Amino acid sequence: VPDSADAVLDGLDPEQRAVATTLRGPVCVLAGAGTGKTRAITHRIAYGVRSGILQAGSVLAVTFTQRAAGEMRGRLRQLGAAGVQARTFHSAALRQLQYFWPRAVGGELPALLERKGPLVAEAAARCRVRLDRAELRDVTAEVEWAKVTRTTPEDYPAAVRKAGRAAPRDPAGTSRIYAMYEQLKQERGQIDFEDVLLLTVGILQERADIAERVRSQYQHFVVDEYQDVSPLQQRLLELWLGDRDSICVVGDASQTIYSFTGATPDHLLDFRLRHPDATVVRLVRDYRSTPQVVALANGLLSQAVGRAAEHRLELVSQRPAGPEPVYREYPDEPAEAEATARRIRELIGAGVPAGRIAVLYRINAQSENYEQALADAGVACQLRGAERFFERQEIRQAGLALRGAARAGGNDRVLDGADSLAGQVRAVLSSIGWTHEPPGGSGAARDRWESLRALVRLAEDFQRARPAATLADLVAELDERAAAQHAPEVEGVTLASLHAAKGLEWDAVFLVGLTDGMLPLTHARTPEQIEEERRLLYVGITRARVHLTLSWSLARAPGGRPGRRPSRFLEGLRPSAGGTGGRAAAGGVVRGPRRAERVERGPVTCRVCGRAMTEAVELKLRRCAGCPSDLDEELYERLSHWRAGRARELGRPAFA
Ligand code: ATP
Ligand code: MG
Repeated sequence: VPDSADAVLDGLDPEQRAVATTLRGPVCVLAGAGTGKTRAITHRIAYGVRSGILQAGSVLAVTFTQRAAGEMRGRLRQLGAAGVQARTFHSAALRQLQYFWPRAVGGELPALLERKGPLVAEAAARCRVRLDRAELRDVTAEVEWAKVTRTTPEDYPAAVRKAGRAAPRDPAGTSRIYAMYEQLKQERGQIDFEDVLLLTVGILQERADIAERVRSQYQHFVVDEYQDVSPLQQRLLELWLGDRDSICVVGDASQTIYSFTGATPDHLLDFRLRHPDATVVRLVRDYRSTPQVVALANGLLSQAVGRAAEHRLELVSQRPAGPEPVYREYPDEPAEAEATARRIRELIGAGVPAGRIAVLYRINAQSENYEQALADAGVACQLRGAERFFERQEIRQAGLALRGAARAGGNDRVLDGADSLAGQVRAVLSSIGWTHEPPGGSGAARDRWESLRALVRLAEDFQRARPAATLADLVAELDERAAAQHAPEVEGVTLASLHAAKGLEWDAVFLVGLTDGMLPLTHARTPEQIEEERRLLYVGITRARVHLTLSWSLARAPGGRPGRRPSRFLEGLRPSAGGTGGRAAAGGVVRGPRRAERVERGPVTCRVCGRAMTEAVELKLRRCAGCPSDLDEELYERLSHWRAGRARELGRPAFA
C-alpha cells in the first residue's frame, strides 16, 4: 500500500497524472489500447480517496465486465482505497432495483430470467413462426438490440430501417415475436437482463425521491470502456449524475465492438459537446505491447475508415523490442488447433506461465477444437465468459464443505506446519474428491481440478497475508469475494472470444481462425459492420504483450476442400503481401506442419534432447513429446538456453 496520496501517483506518466489529479469537473480520456486508461482511472479514484477529496462510498466506478470490476476493486484495495463501488452497469442497477423495488413498485423484485432463448422460442411458437436455431439466435439478438436502444415492438420496424440494420427476419414478424415475448415475460412475473436497466431508468425518471436518494449516495462517476456504452446505459448514467458534473470517462473509439447491441462511440467522441468545460486528455504511450505488436496495430488502423477511425491515435510502444508477429496457414482446423496447442506447450516449457497465454477467436463455437487439442497436449485451459467461478458446481460444493469444517472447529487458531490453513483446505477438498495431482485427460475433470486448486492457492495467499487467519476467516473472505464476483485466478490457458477479451492482456496471444468469412464474419455486410470486424481484430492484436500469432486454415475438416482465404484485413499487413508488420525475415507466410504423424514407441532418439524416445513421438519431427518442436525465431533464443540446461541435466554437450 502506497504510504501517502502522492505515492499513489508514482508510476504514472505526466498525462496519466493529469487524469489522476483532475478530480473536479468532467474529464474525458481518449486513448488507444494499452495506454493505461484503466490504470489511470483506478489511480485517480485511489488518489481522490487517499487525499480525502473523494469519499470512498460516494464513488461509483462502472466497468464493462464483472471480472474487470473485480480487478479494479482488488487494485483499489492494494492502493489503500477499499470501499469504492466498482460494478458493471448491470450489477449496479440490479442492486438499486432490489433496494428500491418494494418502495417503488411494491412486493419482491420479479425473478431474473436467466436465458432469453427459450422464451423467445415460445413467443415465436405462439405467433405461429417456426425458427431454426440460427434464426432463434438472430431474433433474440434483435430483441436485445431493441431493448438497449429503447425501441418498443411497435417502433422496431422503423428503427431497423433507420439504423440500416441487416435484420435477420422480416421486421414486422420480429416485432410481433418481440411483443409476445414481453407479454409472456410479464405474465410469468419475470424480468430479463435489459429490464434491469430499463426498470431502473424508469424508476429514477418517475420517482424524484428515489433519484434523490441514489444521487445523495453516489456523487462521483467513473466509466471505463465508454466507447461501448449503449443508449440505455447512457441514459442511466445521466440519471445517476443529475445536474452534477463529477464524471470521468475513458475509452478508445477504435475499440468499439458492441455496436450490435446498440453501443456507439458517439457518446465518447461527443463528450465535449455535452460537457463543454470538460478536461480532455489524450494518452499515446503504449505500455502493454512491444513495438512489433504496436506496429501491426497501427498498420491495421491506418486502413480503417469511418468516424471512429478519424479519431485514431498512433500508438507509441514503451516496451523493449520483441519477436515479430507470426503468420501461420494450416490445411484444416484440427491441424491449426493441434499446432497451436503444441506451440503453447513450447511456450510453457520455455517459462511462460499458462495463465499468461490466450487463444482468441471470433465466435464461441470455434473453441471446441482448441479445448480438445489443449487437453490432448496436457495443457489446462479456462473458458472466459463461460460459467462464473463462484457459480461453478464444485466451488459451491467446496464452499459448503469448508463452511462445515469451519463450524466444526476450524475456528481454533492453527499453530503449526505444511496443518496450515492451505493444508486444512486441501484436506477438506480431498473429502469432496480433490486430489493433489491433476487428473489426466479430459477437459471437464481438469477444469474442476484447476478451479479447486485456485481455492487452495487463495488459501495460501490469504495465510501469507494474515498468518493468524482461521478457516472461518477464509470462509468469510470467500463470501466477500463471491458477493463481489472477485474470482481468484484459475491457472490455465485462456480461451475466449474477441469480445470477451476486451480490456485484458496476455504475454502470448494466438488469434486463430482468421479467414474471410470468420473475420469479417460472413454476416457482416454493411461497410459499418465490416469496420466493426476490423476493430475486433484491432482489439485482438492489442491484447498481446509480446508474442502474437495470427493463423487460419484453408478447410474446416481434414480432407475438406481448401476453399478458404485468409482474412482480407491481413492483406497489406503480412509480409507476403508487402506489408511491414509481419515476419519479414522469414520471407513470407510460414506454413505450419500438417497433422503430426504419431507412432507409439520409436527406436529413435529425440533430436532436441537426444534421449531415446520412449513416449509417443512425432515421427516426422523426431522429437519426444516433452520437447519443443517448431523452432520459431521468437522462441529460438529461449530454446537455446533451455536446450543447454537440458543437455547439462542429461550430462551431454549442448545440442548444436
Ligand atoms: P485497453 O484499451 O486494452 O483497455 P488500457 O488503456 O486500459 O488498455 P491498461 O490496461 O490500463 O491500458 O494498461 C496496459 C498495461 O500497461 C498494463 O499492464 C498496465 O499496468 C501498464 N501500464 C499502464 N501505464 C503504465 C505506466 N505509466 N508505467 C508502467 N506500466 C504501465
Ligand atoms: Mg482498459
